[in-house]
Amino acid sequence: MAITPTNFAVIDLDAIAYNVAALKARVGPGAALWAVVKANAYGHGAVPVARAALAAGASRLAVARIREGVELRQAGIEAPILVMGYHLPNEAEAAVAHDLIMTVNDVAFARALDDQARDAGKTTPIHVKVDTGMGRFGLLPEELLDFLESVTRFPHLELEGLWTHFATADEPDKGFARQQFAMFRYAAFLARDRFEIPMLHAANSAAILDLPETYLDAVRPGIAIYGLYPSGEVSMDAALRPALTLVSHVGRVRTLPPGASVSYGRAFIARRHTRVALLPIGYGDGIHRLLSNRGQVLIRGQRAPIIGRVCMDNIMVDVSAIEGVQEGDEAVLIGRQGDEVITAEEVAAWAQTINYEVTTALMPRVYRDFRGR
Ligand SMILES: *Cc1c(COP(=O)(O)O)cnc(C)c1O
Repeated sequence: MAITPTNFAVIDLDAIAYNVAALKARVGPGAALWAVVKANAYGHGAVPVARAALAAGASRLAVARIREGVELRQAGIEAPILVMGYHLPNEAEAAVAHDLIMTVNDVAFARALDDQARDAGKTTPIHVKVDTGMGRFGLLPEELLDFLESVTRFPHLELEGLWTHFATADEPDKGFARQQFAMFRYAAFLARDRFEIPMLHAANSAAILDLPETYLDAVRPGIAIYGLYPSGEVSMDAALRPALTLVSHVGRVRTLPPGASVSYGRAFIARRHTRVALLPIGYGDGIHRLLSNRGQVLIRGQRAPIIGRVCMDNIMVDVSAIEGVQEGDEAVLIGRQGDEVITAEEVAAWAQTINYEVTTALMPRVYRDFRGR
């Protein structure tokens, strides 16, 4: 790239590798680590992150959508890919064509997958989800045995694993998570009495940090491989390294007189002479509109408040208190600049959301600058 784009996310692949290695060390040799790279690797860039995670010791990848698995395959990635999300039967063909390991939640999908596998001359591994408390999809424990009875009759499907997902592993009270896990263990115990099921898995990042008894055969970390913690209420002793820095640049800088207004709805009115810098980045890039009149950015190592409403393509910041700001200065929206840091968690608090959504919201038009490895 000859020209530095105005907006880019620096993705530190060495941090990804470091986090994967740190999580693997925490989990120990008994369980495999499958890197969750759904939603464009939580906004970080699925293909380079997947490669870095595999090189650092992840043995598989996990995504939510078949399309996401296809993208990884088309980039030449050959590692096993587990698809965790819900799909309609019409997508079974792509799943088989690209050798994706599907989570099967109903007989209609199982039948479609079996048909496609037969036509392709393949046997395809499947995983079955047990709904122990998320209430979204998967089989309730009392439905599980009948369902396994049905899907194991399909000759081109091979039951490889059972899994579940925790609703509250990132909360201080682990009671419900432990209850879910006990329910899962019991369902799996009954199922293994009648069916051969090589793998059980349950743990997300929060469970990796706080519930070592849930590691089973594999763990499925997402947020932690990006160097972020699932909440402020989990053990923070893993020394994770955030992998993403979001950078924009100062455009036009000018002084507005008292009484002048900024942006749509005139939600900011200058009370005094105000030095205003334009940053050509907005909600069309993934900057939450809730940052209007509330968020901050770093320029010259200092915090500049966002004034007025966040637009699709621009925000304005008050740089009256920062000496010498000029066009072309780097502005950091997430990450470190000099001695100051704006964390994804801080942005999440301004936007009334969680760090997961802050990075995942970054749109494709924000250039990803992969560094390291
Ligand atoms: C997204 C997801 C994960 C990863 O969760 P984190 O909290 O990001 O670690 C694990 N399992 C399933 C089923 C998921 O959907």
